[in-house]
Amino acid sequence: MKVLVINCGSSSLKYQLIDSVSEIALAVGICERIGQGISCLKHTPNGGEKVVIETPMENHEVAIKMVLDALTDKNHGVIKSLEEIGAVGHRVVHGGEKFATSTIITDEVIQAIEDCNDLAPLHNPANLIGIRACANLIKGVPMVAVFDTAFHQTMPAKAYLYGIPHEYYDKYKIRKYGFHGTSHSFVSKRAAEFAGIDINNSKIIVCHLGNGASITAVLNGKSIDTSMGFTPLAGLVMGTRSGNIDPSIIEFIAKKENKNIDQIMNLLNKESGVQGMSDVSSDFRDINDAMDNGNEMARTAFDVFVYRVAKCIGGYVAAMNGVDVIAFTAGVGENDHKVREDVCQYLGYLGVTIDLEKNMTRSKEIMLTTPESTTKVCIMPTNEELAIARETVGLL
Ligand code: ADP
Repeated sequence: MKVLVINCGSSSLKYQLIDSVSEIALAVGICERIGQGISCLKHTPNGGEKVVIETPMENHEVAIKMVLDALTDKNHGVIKSLEEIGAVGHRVVHGGEKFATSTIITDEVIQAIEDCNDLAPLHNPANLIGIRACANLIKGVPMVAVFDTAFHQTMPAKAYLYGIPHEYYDKYKIRKYGFHGTSHSFVSKRAAEFAGIDINNSKIIVCHLGNGASITAVLNGKSIDTSMGFTPLAGLVMGTRSGNIDPSIIEFIAKKENKNIDQIMNLLNKESGVQGMSDVSSDFRDINDAMDNGNEMARTAFDVFVYRVAKCIGGYVAAMNGVDVIAFTAGVGENDHKVREDVCQYLGYLGVTIDLEKNMTRSKEIMLTTPESTTKVCIMPTNEELAIARETVGLL
């Protein structure tokens, strides 16, 4: 079956058409700047040249129409007709407490996703626009919603409740939800296979370190704790997000700088993290270059990032009373050898020793630890689109 995987953001739409048997992406692409004047579709057929089309796309329905045209185009298309699309898998950011697994999309499911809009006001409405647009344009094709939060619904209350009055959980469901669930699930399963251990009897820590970053403790295949929280702002220091801070800092800055709550949330989401700390960039390639040139602020930002990752791993070792495998994934985790090396320097108490030559590998499945190492550490590339396609086919 050919599965169209759609990931709708507020002004962008990423897609892949995946053959579920060979698991090959027949085409990948992105529509950018939707609803912002001149939009752009970048479409790459498997084994072919990238095609770039600049044209206004006033909304996501127009964008999806462009994607379907590109997929069936005589020159750069990969299918003859839309009838070849057997199913559509949608990434949905927030499923609240309603969705602990992926689900076939029905009118009731659309309503339930809409009920979670409050919890992810930037993401869920965009995801719903994508779902409705596909329903209009490829009528009758089954669609599945795959939630970023679902994998973490197995967390116990002691992990997900905050130390605030219970009425806020009762009234508004304020709790830890966690994100990147599709990636944490995919990577933990594959890491167990790769390490030759039974996922149902395993302790795995997945470090998804990208622009957004989160770490999950996966005990016997289930998420028992994760570093992001009520929103993806919590936890680690990230590209531009602050991660956990003392909440009183918000009041202090508000008073000193005469900023309102929206301005401060913008500061914490978009101007903080390694970008804000270094004044260089949110991108670890730039941070590494700056460090090589002796930039002390970049060095400090890098060290803070690594220290927080190491402390989070330590917390999850305590939560699971041990760990069998630690897996690095996503842009930074798969590519930045220095981050991995420095994190592993904190893991001597786990008997971790890594092979520095193997650690130079980028974006490939590889065991980094030496045979003597009592805990295994690996690079495990994530593939959220493939995970969504698998979930979609599995449900149908
Ligand atoms: P997201 O999906 O959260 O936007 P990604 O997982 O794609 O992020 O990660 C993007 C980040 O990966 C970049 O911002 C950069 O910091 C990091 N990255 C990508 N390639 C490299 C590299 N070769 N070396 C170091 N860091 C890299």
